[in-house]
Amino acid sequence: RTSRWQVECRHDIDTFTPGFLAMYESLKPSEEHKTKQQQLVDSLTKSVSKEWPDARLHLYGSSANSFGTSHSDVDVCLEMEIGTESTVEILLKLADVLRTDSFDNVEAITGARVPIVRMSDPESGFSCDICINNLLAVANTKLLKDYAQIDQRLLQLAFLVKHWAKLRGVNETYRGTLSSYAYVLMCIHFLQLREPKSLPCLQAMEHTYTMNVHGTECAYFDKVHQLQDFGAENKESIAELLWAFFHYWAFHHNYKRDVISVRIGNTISRKQKNWTARIGNDRHLMCIEDPFETDHDLGRGVDRQTIRILREEFERAATMLQYDDDPCVTLFEPYDYEN
Ligand code: ATP
Ligand code: MG
Repeated sequence: RTSRWQVECRHDIDTFTPGFLAMYESLKPSEEHKTKQQQLVDSLTKSVSKEWPDARLHLYGSSANSFGTSHSDVDVCLEMEIGTESTVEILLKLADVLRTDSFDNVEAITGARVPIVRMSDPESGFSCDICINNLLAVANTKLLKDYAQIDQRLLQLAFLVKHWAKLRGVNETYRGTLSSYAYVLMCIHFLQLREPKSLPCLQAMEHTYTMNVHGTECAYFDKVHQLQDFGAENKESIAELLWAFFHYWAFHHNYKRDVISVRIGNTISRKQKNWTARIGNDRHLMCIEDPFETDHDLGRGVDRQTIRILREEFERAATMLQYDDDPCVTLFEPYDYEN
């Protein structure tokens, strides 16, 4: 008997590649979207510089890492010297400034792991999150953007996976599933393990970029234009890769034993990372190491129930890609919360 994980990819899988590529194209943000986003950044810069003339404004997250769709929010980080004031005090002041400048729905969310001001832009309607001095997020944004320039199949795969995750209801960290950031890292990890490889491990190469964020060293090879042909030996189509991605997470990944690490370009054992015992709320049921903050498990919100849901969704997706007549449609059928 062959077990499920030994199943080979269906022979007609490539007939679905044009459909998936069309879908990817439709998810990419339009030029108009990018222009509006820039206008939002400009008006925000103007508001902020009145109160904090030396502050620097960085875009991070999907509006800057090239994994953003037309539905993504705009994530902004303000870099500034803060004297005796606390981050929370600054955020409250910032909220006042933005209200005065007639941004909509301004709200300071100060209790979160990363405190932010959330608001929406009356011009574009975009929702925008602003944090202070969260430079690790700025560094990981650049890392993701650099990976995206090596092999275009990473962007294609990640857009489809993010879209799938949103429609299937498994892109909600507050409910115990995974962030978009975690899904992109899962895609990078997966492509680093293909044979032949589609992506290298940038942090294991010569460090041409280094940024030190409060003692955490963020260093890797960032001359990615030199790596344009890196994935050329690998001829897999996007349909094949999408199937293999879900197959990997459904049947190959060893959840009990392994941590995925984009930093080393492979898996590491939970034992080696000391992520075995439950410490506080960290259950480590699905372990995704942050590439820079290496003691940070991006799957830390996953619990007994959501790990089951996630694995069932990976299996469902793999099975549909294997057997359905029209996986481009069925894969993305919205999860029905009623039933
Ligand atoms: P979306 O298109 O869904 O908005 P996104 O890439 O902006 O995708 P978010 O989940 O909004 O994803 O996160 C924004 C950014 O914040 C990420 O790109 C990453 O830089 C940072 N980030 C998010 N979650 C974490 C986390 N748990 N640890 C470290 N950084 C994180
Ligand atoms: Mg975002």
